[in-house]
Amino acid sequence: MVAEQYREIEERVTKACERAGRKREEVTLIAVSKTKPISMLKEAYEAGARTFGENKVQELVSKMDSEELASDISWQMIGHLQRNKVKYIVGRVDLIHSVDSFRLAEEINIQSKKKGVITPILIEVNAANEDTKFGVKIEDTIDLIKQIAKELDSVQIKGLMTIAPYVVDSEENRPYFRKMKALSVDITNENIDNVCMDILSMGMTGDFEVAIEEGATMVRVGTGIFGERNYQN
Ligand SMILES: *Cc1c(COP(=O)(O)O)cnc(C)c1O
Repeated sequence: MVAEQYREIEERVTKACERAGRKREEVTLIAVSKTKPISMLKEAYEAGARTFGENKVQELVSKMDSEELASDISWQMIGHLQRNKVKYIVGRVDLIHSVDSFRLAEEINIQSKKKGVITPILIEVNAANEDTKFGVKIEDTIDLIKQIAKELDSVQIKGLMTIAPYVVDSEENRPYFRKMKALSVDITNENIDNVCMDILSMGMTGDFEVAIEEGATMVRVGTGIFGERNYQN
């Protein structure tokens, strides 16, 4: 079931790229495997998934440690990150999507220095300004990026991430995706040292096609690949 669903989502990603006149290689499909067992991750892997996203440190680490999974998986932290847990993932994940404060970036910087690595990060933006969401406000994003780039040399800002509102009609999120793309262009135009805007991580099961049409380079799809999540166990 997972393999079939993975291929179906992959196909929809390809079609959205075609509609938008973009190359398929421009968009990375992240299989969001939170709450799902290793057996399902293996199925997705066998269908072609190589990039997996998790939103809890403990679960992420236990999956990265699993000997049942191949070693060529790119693991990415997509969820809210507490500073006291940064040390468990620095040097082990390829990208942290969810940096929304200087203090968090500072801790990632400290742990990166200790391990002798440079950690690629994205800045999480609360594009729709929802009270319930993490992320920096659009209008505060450039200042945060400038501060991180100036003061922290063991993190590298690679782009932006957003979690759009939950909507029934994905078209409702198009303006937010468009704002994110415009923001990333504005930041590129600032020419800040050590900052690039190669990555725009936006779009989930309900709206990834619209996100691709508006410029997403990473889409994070959970339910569409693995089915509904059950948080009871
Ligand atoms: C769970 C999650 C997703 C995937 O959501 P679906 O709607 O199941 O595709 C994407 N991004 C983040 C940050 C998540 O926590």
